Amino acid sequence: MRVHNFSAGPAVLPEEVLKEIQENLVDYKGNGLSVLEMSHRSKEYMEIIEGARARLLKIMGLSDEYVAMFLQGGASTQFYMIPLNFCADDKVANYIDTGAWSSKAIKEVKILGKKLHIAATSEDKEFTYIPKEWELSDNAAYLHITTNNTIRGTEWMIDPDVPADVPLIADMSSNFLSKPLNFSKYDMIYGGAQKNIGSAGATFVVLKKSMLEKINPGLSTMIDYNTHASKGSMFNTPPTFSIYVIGEVLKWIEGNGGLVGMQKINEEKAAYIYDVIDGSNFYKGTVVKEDRSFMNIPFRLPTEELEKKFISETTANNMINLKGHRSVGGCRASVYNSLPMESAKVLAKFMIDFEKVNK
Ligand SMILES: *Cc1c(COP(=O)(O)O)cnc(C)c1O
Repeated sequence: MRVHNFSAGPAVLPEEVLKEIQENLVDYKGNGLSVLEMSHRSKEYMEIIEGARARLLKIMGLSDEYVAMFLQGGASTQFYMIPLNFCADDKVANYIDTGAWSSKAIKEVKILGKKLHIAATSEDKEFTYIPKEWELSDNAAYLHITTNNTIRGTEWMIDPDVPADVPLIADMSSNFLSKPLNFSKYDMIYGGAQKNIGSAGATFVVLKKSMLEKINPGLSTMIDYNTHASKGSMFNTPPTFSIYVIGEVLKWIEGNGGLVGMQKINEEKAAYIYDVIDGSNFYKGTVVKEDRSFMNIPFRLPTEELEKKFISETTANNMINLKGHRSVGGCRASVYNSLPMESAKVLAKFMIDFEKVNK
C-alpha cells in the first residue's frame, strides 16, 4: 500500500509515472537495456532528453527565445552561478528576501563579494508575507525572487513588474508548473526537480537566450551557462535517469490538463486543509491569508506536545512527513502536483477528528 506522502522534497510522484518507469526499467521500450545503463549520447537517450526539453517549453508556453537545461548541484548551486554569470563587478545584484531559501541565495552573493541590494524583505514579520513593494538599486544586474517559500509557506500570487532593462530571475523550486504563469516575464527560472517535477539529481534552468550575451567572461567551464546552453546539457554526463523521470512527469502534467489542470487540482487540494484551519481555533495558519502557498501549508497546534502527538498519530495512520521544517517547528503539509486528491481529503478528515479528541 502507498502512504500519503506530505514530504517537502524529495516528494511524492504520480503512481502512474512510477509504474511506467517500473515497466520499462529493465528493458526500456524493447531496446534491451535500462535507461540507467544507456549512453547519454545514444539515439534512444537523445530522444528522452530532447523530448523532455521540448515538452517543458511547450507546457510553459515559451518559444525558442528560451533554452531549457538540466544541470546538477541542485537549486543551491544556482545560488552562486547566478551572481557569477550575471552580476558584473560594476553592477548590483538585487534580491527580495522572503526567508530561508532566498536568504541562502543572498548569502552566496555576499561570499562572492558582489554588490548587493535587498530590494524588499519580509523579515520584519518573520517572513510571514510577500512584500508588495520593492525598490531596485541603480545599475541593477537583475532582480531575484523566490516564487514559493517552501519552509514558511508563502507564495507570490503575481509575476512582479520590473523595468525592461532589469532581468527577472526566479527560484521556482517548490511551485514550478503548479499553475499557469506569465513565464515570458522571467529571464531565468530555475529549481531542483525533486519537489514538483521529478526526482532528485536534476536542476532545471530555463533561460532567455538573450541572457547568454550578458554572461561575465572568464568563468570556469562548468559554471558558465554558455557551456550548458550550447551543448544541450551534454557538456558532461547529465543526470540521465532524473531527466527521464522529469520527462515522464511532464507527460503526466500534459495528460492531466496542463498547468490549468494542475492549478485546479492544487487549489482544491489546498482548500481541504486550509478550510479545516480556517474553521478551527485549534489549528493556526502561520502566514497571512492572501499570500499563503498552494504547495506548502505550515500550521501550528495549541502546544508542542500536541504537535508531537499529531505527528506520531498521522504517521501511525499512513500520513508521513508532516513535521514542520526544523527551523520553524510545528507541522507542514506539502501538497504538490503529484499528491493525490485523496491524500488531502484523508488528512483534512484526520485533522477534524484529532481536534475533537484533543481539544
Ligand atoms: C528545496 C529548495 C531549494 C534547494 O534545492 P536543492 O536542489 O536541494 O539545492 C532552493 N530553493 C527552494 C525554494 C527550495 O524549496
